[in-house]
Amino acid sequence: MAETTVLGVPSVRTPRLPARTGLSYHIRTFGCQMNEHDSERISGLLAADGMVASSDVESADVIVLNTCTIRENADNKLYGYLGALRALKKDRPGLKILVGGCSAQKDGDLVIERAPWVDVVFGTHNVHRVVELIDHADEWGPVTEIWEETSSAEDFPSYLPVQRETPHSAWVTIAIGCDNSCTFCIVPAVRGREISRRVGDVIGEVKTLAAEGVTEVTLLGQNVNSYGRDLELNGRSPVFADLLRQVGAVEGVRRVRYTSPHPKDFREDVATAMAETPEVCEQLHLPLQSGSDHILAAMHRGYNRDRFLSRLAMARSIVPKLSVSTDVIVGFPGETEDDFVATLEVVEAARFDQAFTFQFSPRPGTVAAEMDCQIPKHVVQERFERLVALQRGISLEKNEAMVGDVEEVLVEGPSKKNPAMTTARTRGNKPVHAPGEYAPGAYLEMEITAAAPHHLVGRVLP
Ligand code: SF4
Repeated sequence: MAETTVLGVPSVRTPRLPARTGLSYHIRTFGCQMNEHDSERISGLLAADGMVASSDVESADVIVLNTCTIRENADNKLYGYLGALRALKKDRPGLKILVGGCSAQKDGDLVIERAPWVDVVFGTHNVHRVVELIDHADEWGPVTEIWEETSSAEDFPSYLPVQRETPHSAWVTIAIGCDNSCTFCIVPAVRGREISRRVGDVIGEVKTLAAEGVTEVTLLGQNVNSYGRDLELNGRSPVFADLLRQVGAVEGVRRVRYTSPHPKDFREDVATAMAETPEVCEQLHLPLQSGSDHILAAMHRGYNRDRFLSRLAMARSIVPKLSVSTDVIVGFPGETEDDFVATLEVVEAARFDQAFTFQFSPRPGTVAAEMDCQIPKHVVQERFERLVALQRGISLEKNEAMVGDVEEVLVEGPSKKNPAMTTARTRGNKPVHAPGEYAPGAYLEMEITAAAPHHLVGRVLP
């Protein structure tokens, strides 16, 4: 088994001459927006080292798997994928295989033990070290580097070069880590404690992006509402509502979005900032997780159903036309039929535009994984189908109510399903497909002509 070296690699911040000109890289991203954002940074670093992106994994010289560990099958997916790469490595020994992200942070050395053809394992706070770690693997063999202690604001990946998927839209990290302790969640263990980025750094990045032609920015954090609690500015902690206003005021920015808020910290000042800052879109993602107070307590969510519904009502009363999405977990340990019915009741009452629904999966290292009363798979599946059916009807009803409306949309590009159609997004973050070809990044007025549960159809107005 190859020797792995940990944390020995010298760190260089000053840009260096490209050392891998002409080589190609392929990045496969699993999981959330945080990972997508990190992958844009990894892509920027490899391109700065002279490499070109390749959509073809078979011919790439460097393959990066940016992993997620939020659900059980995520780990299985990783090791399944690594198994498939083994043959490629056998045929091309010079190929470099890198594993980053949350599974890498969680498993560390174990990744190389289980897949000794992997060259580099890097943690969630070690994105900036990717090129040096490849150098190290070239010289000394396989290397693992994950973070032990949560780092500092200095380690925000924001100064790194970036290769964005879409030139007109950008993610902007405002905080990393999470101080909450939801019993089903592995994030605090793999992304560390909350660290907010200084206001000036965030605004500085947004100004740079706007100067590069970005018109839509999405502020990223595990719990954006607690932004700034660890910072001090003029004797007080900056708050998220102020940051929203300041980002909206940056010249050239037309749309501001953010993800993810926590219902227990969602306050009126944020809703008011959304309503009073035209650039901030009328879109809110408010994760419910369960509608049962008994389960919410076992999840350690810090709110009950009435408080959740009152926060939702508050937001809707302040922000007109607010489009709301949520997350719901089915089958949490100890969930009775009554608990599940309570979830259906809240979903029924809340009328979400969209819901991301998940079946509970025990994550090693979380409190919930050790809980008794794990629910049998067939029961979870049956409940999951009832929830999906209910929400599907509500989403369709909400979208049908928009038929005849005129919406400002931002063009993303040709529809993936039908290239004769264009896909765009409303301010409520709903995908709309319309006939014709329009430039990505263009803002258009569209009349909504038809609706489906997960998308709208429209026609572009002259
Ligand atoms: S708020 Fe809860 S679910 Fe969200 S990242 Fe933090 S611990 Fe996980």
